[in-house]
Amino acid sequence: MSRIVVIGAGVGGLAAAVRLAGTGHDVAVYESSTVAGGKLAVYERDGFRFDTGPSLLTLPQVFDDLDLDLPMQRLDPVVRHMFPDGTLLDSTSDDSEFGKRIAAALGDDAAADWSRFWRRASRIWAASWRSVLQRPVRPATLAALSWRVGDLAAITPGRSLRALGRRYLHDRRLRMMLDRYATYTGADPRRAPAALAAIPYAELEFGGWYLPGGLGTLTSSLVARCRALGVPIELSAPVAGIAVSGSRVSGVRLATGGVVPADVVVSNVDALTTYRDLLPSAPRLSRLADRSLAGFVLLLGVRGSTPALAHHTVLFPRNYDAEFDAVFGSAGRRARPASDPAIFITRAADPAVHPPGTEAWFVLVNAPRHGTSWTSVDWSRPGLAEAYRDRVLALLAARGLDVRDRLLFAEIRTPRDLAEATGAPGGAIYGTAGGLLRPANRGPVEGLWLVGGSAHPGGGLPMVTLSAKIVADQIGPAR
Ligand SMILES: Cc1cc2nc3c(=O)[nH]c(=O)nc-3n(C[C@H](O)[C@H](O)[C@H](O)COP(=O)(O)OP(=O)(O)OC[C@H]3O[C@@H](n4cnc5c(N)ncnc54)[C@H](O)[C@@H]3O)c2cc1C
Repeated sequence: MSRIVVIGAGVGGLAAAVRLAGTGHDVAVYESSTVAGGKLAVYERDGFRFDTGPSLLTLPQVFDDLDLDLPMQRLDPVVRHMFPDGTLLDSTSDDSEFGKRIAAALGDDAAADWSRFWRRASRIWAASWRSVLQRPVRPATLAALSWRVGDLAAITPGRSLRALGRRYLHDRRLRMMLDRYATYTGADPRRAPAALAAIPYAELEFGGWYLPGGLGTLTSSLVARCRALGVPIELSAPVAGIAVSGSRVSGVRLATGGVVPADVVVSNVDALTTYRDLLPSAPRLSRLADRSLAGFVLLLGVRGSTPALAHHTVLFPRNYDAEFDAVFGSAGRRARPASDPAIFITRAADPAVHPPGTEAWFVLVNAPRHGTSWTSVDWSRPGLAEAYRDRVLALLAARGLDVRDRLLFAEIRTPRDLAEATGAPGGAIYGTAGGLLRPANRGPVEGLWLVGGSAHPGGGLPMVTLSAKIVADQIGPAR
């Protein structure tokens, strides 16, 4: 049995704690915040209960062997897409039904295109699942022989998601829909690898899911499972450093003083922060992956009901590329809040999350990270967040959803708020963006492991949960 300290009670950290304790190790979690869950957070006000982070659960099978007994509800539509020309397309995990919906909304040719694209996406998914998502991957193994030759061909390294969309999809609305999946990893579709076609495949093949009471209940389930396994979760307990003895970890130093001895340390803290702040003696991490984009969030208490909305609705802008230019910064222009972004709304028809006669809207717009560099925005600039809130509400009105006179309140969460609450650098939603090469799960000193969105295989609830499985498998059961 090893004494294992997990730094951070995000989903990756908690899932790692559950797996490692379940195989007989002596595990304790140290979390800097007053609550567990990290980005999977909840905000309650006046009888409303908002998920402030994730709202769509995918790849449910990834959570199966954590014994969480999650009461998952399959969503149909998974997402309602509202295009700028007024066309509406509801995605569904029923393959043939989706084909029919595409044909009805966009025409038979578009449906045939999608079906060809789907066959390709299925090969990309199978290759990614086999060769990347369940395995520890290092730059050397990725670049060399860990791929089956067919798998490498399927994911077409070097081609962008945008290029793949151009090749298969002639309808610009379908291309827009595909482009949006790059943002699920925080990336720009024009630079993100074609391999990300695995994301729509995973979402629609295995479904999009909701948890009654909100996705934040996943945190509660993970915490309860830790308790049942005897794993203490110390809150308000920031870790200031990783102690090393010789070439091995020997424990963690708490910011409040004292060292907790450990044979193994699993860091759920962002990889760059781990190496820069917690283990400064580590060799500098080469820059393997770009940072993910951030998000500007509105939490709206809304009177009445809005039949036009599905559980998830996305309203596309006329010029999607202008959004990517703004959010990531483009040649000659620094990053800025997009003036006409895609707007994603989650409105659960769940009485547990809103008082009768009202709706709880979670509104998410892609945004530049917080900071002062060319590719970020200083979200602490007085008046900026409020002005952007008003802009987003006006855009909603222009796209047919004017809720300004039905608002009970409008709370704002900027990228800076997320950075402060969870330690995510600049408020990056998904850690590292898009590509296949991320910081490895095995750290540079013996006994140090990394889980979470900035490490392999990336961000999003299923991916960080997979990172926990990869790490627990590598550590192995207690002897
Ligand atoms: C607005 C938004 C929308 C999203 N939508 C979706 C979605 O619909 N579907 C989806 O699958 N994913 C979504 N995501 C992404 C998903 O939330 C994340 O990928 C995932 O929750 C990250 O988990 P993690 O394991 O990386 O840990 P994190 O959530 O990053 O947690 C890390 C934890 O470490 C703690 N910590 C940091 N430093 C220290 C320290 N020194 N000592 C102790 N503790 C420390 C932090 O406080 C935090 O609790 C969304 C995220 C956001 C913000």
